[in-house]
Amino acid sequence: MKKHLIIGGGVAGVTLAWQLIKKGHLVLLLDNKQNKSSTIAAGMINPIVFRRVTKSWRVDEFLPFAIGFYKELEVATGSQFFNSIKIRRFFASEQEKKYWLRKQKEESYKKYLSPEENYKHEFTSTQNNLGSAIVKNAFRVNAQAFMQQTHKLFRTNNCLKHESFDYALFNRDKMMYNGEKYDSVVFCCGTDQDKVPYFNSIEIQHTKGEILTVKAKQMPNEETWNKKGFILPVGADSFKIGATIERNTNNAKVTDHGRKELLNVINGLYSGSYDITEQIAGIRPTVYDRRPVLGEHPKHKSLFIFNGLGTKGYLMAPLLAQEMADFMIDGKALHEEVQLSRFYKNK
Ligand SMILES: Cc1cc2nc3c(=O)[nH]c(=O)nc-3n(C[C@H](O)[C@H](O)[C@H](O)COP(=O)(O)OP(=O)(O)OC[C@H]3O[C@@H](n4cnc5c(N)ncnc54)[C@H](O)[C@@H]3O)c2cc1C
Repeated sequence: MKKHLIIGGGVAGVTLAWQLIKKGHLVLLLDNKQNKSSTIAAGMINPIVFRRVTKSWRVDEFLPFAIGFYKELEVATGSQFFNSIKIRRFFASEQEKKYWLRKQKEESYKKYLSPEENYKHEFTSTQNNLGSAIVKNAFRVNAQAFMQQTHKLFRTNNCLKHESFDYALFNRDKMMYNGEKYDSVVFCCGTDQDKVPYFNSIEIQHTKGEILTVKAKQMPNEETWNKKGFILPVGADSFKIGATIERNTNNAKVTDHGRKELLNVINGLYSGSYDITEQIAGIRPTVYDRRPVLGEHPKHKSLFIFNGLGTKGYLMAPLLAQEMADFMIDGKALHEEVQLSRFYKNK
C-alpha cells in the first residue's frame, strides 16, 4: 500500500486525497489553515461562459463527474452542501443575446441554455433591458461547509493535520518527512505555490476576488441573477454578491473599490432595499493560459503539483483529481492542456 503526502487542503488537496484513498492508498494531508480561495469561493458551478455564450472548458466531462463526487462526499460526511441552482442571465448586449438564441438551438447546448423568457419581477431594475434566459444544469457547493465537513472527516480518520509543511523536516532524496517515508509528495498550495522551492518557476498568478453578503427581503430566493456579476441566494434572506476580478495582487484585504463595484452589480439588477452584512476577499490561483497545472517534476521524481484551478475550481477539481490519481498510480497520461511539461518546453 502506497503512502502519499499532500500539502494544501483546499479543494485541490481534498479532492485528490479522496481519489487516492478510494484507490486504497494511505494519505496524509497537511493544511496550515491559511486558505485564501476554497473557503472564500461562492462555489457556483456554471457550465456557461457568458461573453460569447460558450461552454466552459471540458464541461461535458467535468460536470457529471462533479455531481457524482459531491453527492458521494455528502454521504461520506453525513452532511449537505451541494444543490442545483437556477441562473437567470440578463443579456448584457445585443451580441450576447444573438449568440444565446442561436446556440440555444444547437444540440450540444440544449442541456445548458433555455429559450429566452418573458420575465417579470417587482424588484428587478433590468425589466426594460434586453431580456433574460436560464442556464440549466447549474449547481452550487456551499464551499465553507464542504471544506469544514471534509476536513472533519479526514481528521477523524487521521488523514489530515492542520500544520505547515516544514521543509527542514523533508529529505527529498529519501522521500522522508518528519521520520516517515512517502511514495509521493503533492503540492496543492494554491497561491502559496511561489513558496514551494521545487516548483517556483511555475508561475501561479494571483487573481483577487471580493464578495459581499447582504440581507434583503425582496431579492429572489428561487434563482440566481446574473449580469456583470451575480446575486446568489444562500438562505434566510441572505445573498452573496460577486465577484470582483483583480489581477496580480496578493493582498487579500477587502477594499472600498471592491465594495463599490459590487454595489454596482446589485444596483444594476435589483431595485429593492438591502443591508450589507459582510464583505470578504480571497485570491484565486490562476495560470496565464487559463488551464490548471498537473504533473510530476521533470527531475525530482515523486514530487507532484496540482494547482491553477482559477475561477472554476469547484467544477474542475473532482475529475482532475481522479485524472491526477490515475497519472500518479497507473501512469495514465494527463490531458494535454493541463500538463506541467508546457512550462518546461523552451528551457
Ligand atoms: C472571491 C472568489 C470567488 C470564487 N468563486 C468561485 C465559484 O463560484 N466557483 C468556483 O468553482 N470557484 C470559485 N472560486 C475559485 C476557487 O475558489 C478556486 O479555484 C479553488 O479554491 C482553488 O483551490 P486550491 O485548492 O487550488 O487552492 P486554495 O483553496 O488556496 O488551497 C491551498 C491550501 O494550501 C494551504 N497551504 C499552502 N501552503 C502550505 C504549506 N506550506 N503547508 C500547509 N498548507 C499549505 C493553504 O492554507 C490552503 O488551504 C472563487 C475564488 C474566489 C477568491
